[in-house]
Amino acid sequence: MPSITLKPGREKSVRNRHPWLFSGAIHTIDPKANDGDIVDAHSNTGQWLARGYLNRRSQIQVRLLSWQADAAIDEAFWRGRLQRALAGRASLAADPQTTAYRLVHAESDGLPGLVVDRYGDWLVMQCLTLGVERIKPLLTRLLVELCQPAGIVERSDVEVRGKEGLRPAVGLLHGAAPAGPVEIMEHGQRFLVDLLGGQKTGFYLDQRENRRRVASYCQGARVLNAFSYSGGFAVYALAAGAAHVSNLDSSLEALELGERNLALNGFDPDGQAEGVAGDVFQVLRDWRAAGQRFDVIILDPPKFAHSQQQVERAARAYKDINLLAMQLLPPGGVLATFSCSGLVSADLFQKILFGASVDAGRDVQVVERLGQGSDHPLLLSFPEGEYLKGLVCRMTG
Ligand code: SAH
Repeated sequence: MPSITLKPGREKSVRNRHPWLFSGAIHTIDPKANDGDIVDAHSNTGQWLARGYLNRRSQIQVRLLSWQADAAIDEAFWRGRLQRALAGRASLAADPQTTAYRLVHAESDGLPGLVVDRYGDWLVMQCLTLGVERIKPLLTRLLVELCQPAGIVERSDVEVRGKEGLRPAVGLLHGAAPAGPVEIMEHGQRFLVDLLGGQKTGFYLDQRENRRRVASYCQGARVLNAFSYSGGFAVYALAAGAAHVSNLDSSLEALELGERNLALNGFDPDGQAEGVAGDVFQVLRDWRAAGQRFDVIILDPPKFAHSQQQVERAARAYKDINLLAMQLLPPGGVLATFSCSGLVSADLFQKILFGASVDAGRDVQVVERLGQGSDHPLLLSFPEGEYLKGLVCRMTG
């Protein structure tokens, strides 16, 4: 087995089972090892530490898979890891009211670089690294064996693949392509999901529990669902008795799918709801000037911070939209606000909200803290896996 050696004193994170080995921690790499190969990681004193896959092109040169010296990284290993991930979703799988959820959450499931989502009879797979790309046929075969899906769609059209020297890849890996959008259920609400053309793998599965929590504040309310995508929060809000929901998004396709999703659940997309195409930053300003008010505002923007350098600018953007939202809420109004930027910590996010409340001159209570769903687990040895946080706030004054 080819091997890499760490620089002196750099083995601590490996011993703590952190799955990433950065180039700066590595002293030597066996020249016989090809990128994508399994390598053994040794300390500078020659002690065996762990085993993972190599990619010299990436800043994260090794993603560690096993800390067990006698465990081969073979078909049985991958099957075992997939089975473990599936077992973790057993209670979701047993719920007939929910047919879409994440089956494999990459590093946090001991499967670095691999994401697998279930949408009804279909699976959607993302291969984010070279190590996983190389064993895509094996992983596909194992997923067929373990899940018997109607088809497996690949949605590896993500920017991070570039850091691994890989191009985007979209297509069918197994079985039949869905004829059109696939219908799924979440807590009994029905949604159409475009597996091959939608955002991410088609749906924001990480918000499933939060959609239900936020809906509980929506009875009788006029709701603004900003950054609505295909209207997930809107369907839940109307099902919980909201008076009216405005979906606001810059994507016309997303708004159109949102209308179809409202109709699919028996709601009138023109009477009980409206779709507004526009830039949230601008539309909220216009509405503030016009004296528009909502009882509940949901802010679920895309990731604003993609690197440490972008955190400051992202913080300003979060503050801007949250300040605007607070100004559109009367006393007693509810703001459900999210950040999916992993680089913006829960602590920083709360401070940003505080800054917005000061500028708005409002007293704001946090009534609930929200995070990513149970199918997006957080591995304690990999805190980087925590990315989604939300605060439900009540405007008290
Ligand atoms: N809340 C959604 C997911 C939101 S994803 C759900 O539960 O499914 C973020 C959405 O914001 C995307 O649909 C994207 O089209 C939209 N978006 C990004 N920047 C925007 C902007 N400046 N103004 C309006 N919409 C924007």
